[in-house]
Amino acid sequence: MKERVYLDFNASAPSKPEVIEAVGAAMVAGGNASSVHARGRQARRAVEEARARIAKLVNCRPGEVIFTSCGTESNNLALKGAKVTAIAVSAIEHDSTLAAAQASGTPWLLLPVDEVGLLKMEALEEVVAKTQPPFLVSVMLANNETGVLQPIAQIAEKVHQKGGLLHTDAIQAAGKVPVDFAALGADMLSLSAHKIGGPQGVGALIVREGVELQPRMVGGGQELRRRSGTENVPGIVGFGRAAELALDDVEGRARLATLRDALEKSVAGMSPHSTFFSQPVARLPNTANFTMPGVDGSTQVMAFDLEGIGISSGAACASGKVASPRVQMAMGATEEVAGAAIRVSLGPTTQKADIDRLLAAWQRLWERTQSSRQAAAAGQE
Ligand code: PLP
Repeated sequence: MKERVYLDFNASAPSKPEVIEAVGAAMVAGGNASSVHARGRQARRAVEEARARIAKLVNCRPGEVIFTSCGTESNNLALKGAKVTAIAVSAIEHDSTLAAAQASGTPWLLLPVDEVGLLKMEALEEVVAKTQPPFLVSVMLANNETGVLQPIAQIAEKVHQKGGLLHTDAIQAAGKVPVDFAALGADMLSLSAHKIGGPQGVGALIVREGVELQPRMVGGGQELRRRSGTENVPGIVGFGRAAELALDDVEGRARLATLRDALEKSVAGMSPHSTFFSQPVARLPNTANFTMPGVDGSTQVMAFDLEGIGISSGAACASGKVASPRVQMAMGATEEVAGAAIRVSLGPTTQKADIDRLLAAWQRLWERTQSSRQAAAAGQE
């Protein structure tokens, strides 16, 4: 049997052997990072070492890193914990940000994006001008489906001018493009270990020194009283190792962009009416989001799975069902076009042979659907 091809790195990036080894070693070492004895102190050292590595990955101070249980928790902590009068989130945020805004109990609204997925600056300016400070704006650095990159530094400036705070979800950006917390000017920034090849179930919220944040999880006062609960030492150690490995892989990123661009070019050659979301603007080097006209995204996912290829369409819900394609629809696509989109996301282990397998399967499915459409049309005549 042929080996399976994995092209769904934005869903979860498999851990590198070095990460698995580091997690295993931390599990063997054991210990509670809050214990005062030698084993506890060893666990504490491991956590602080990981904190420093994550701080280095995103250019912040180690004291600004708060470990959480996942990216979803980081987004929840930022949106529910900030002491603000109102919240504005972009229309293409991850469900965890949208749901946290909704559940925050604070008045909130959506900020629109344009047809390439970039935040509409006039809408932002209008909202910040008429909102009572301190308010919170949340705009993701990179979108998980299209990979579009937002001009966060510019957004932060507009938000700060009017006395607001800016949170950015950098969960998909970290490790794929340089992320510089200081240069972005954000007040809070979310990360998730499993998107950069660390273990699942660990995340971090970077909180700029001086930003007031009400903890959501209370108890023993860990993580500078901002997130209680015994630290997941093996998970955090794996996160730190993954952060270290992800740093400065400029060549790797360029290689992925070349493979991704070749994939899109070949698809466009086979199907000139395919839509390529966010293609004209700056986006993640590993992400492609495009349509097979008239073929539902979930049908494509199943067809490719049968061919041994893992991709995705839309964001997968806990049930394994696929949510409505709201990201592409927020960019102005009709439900039919948005529903025909798939996401292909590459990673460090992706090779040209993987892309060739996907293209061959894509062509087979495309030709099959074309011929059944022609047969159906002929039957109607
Ligand atoms: N934000 C973005 C942009 C994501 O892609 C994801 C994961 O899909 C999350 C948040 C949630 O992260 P986690 O899976 O660690 O809860």
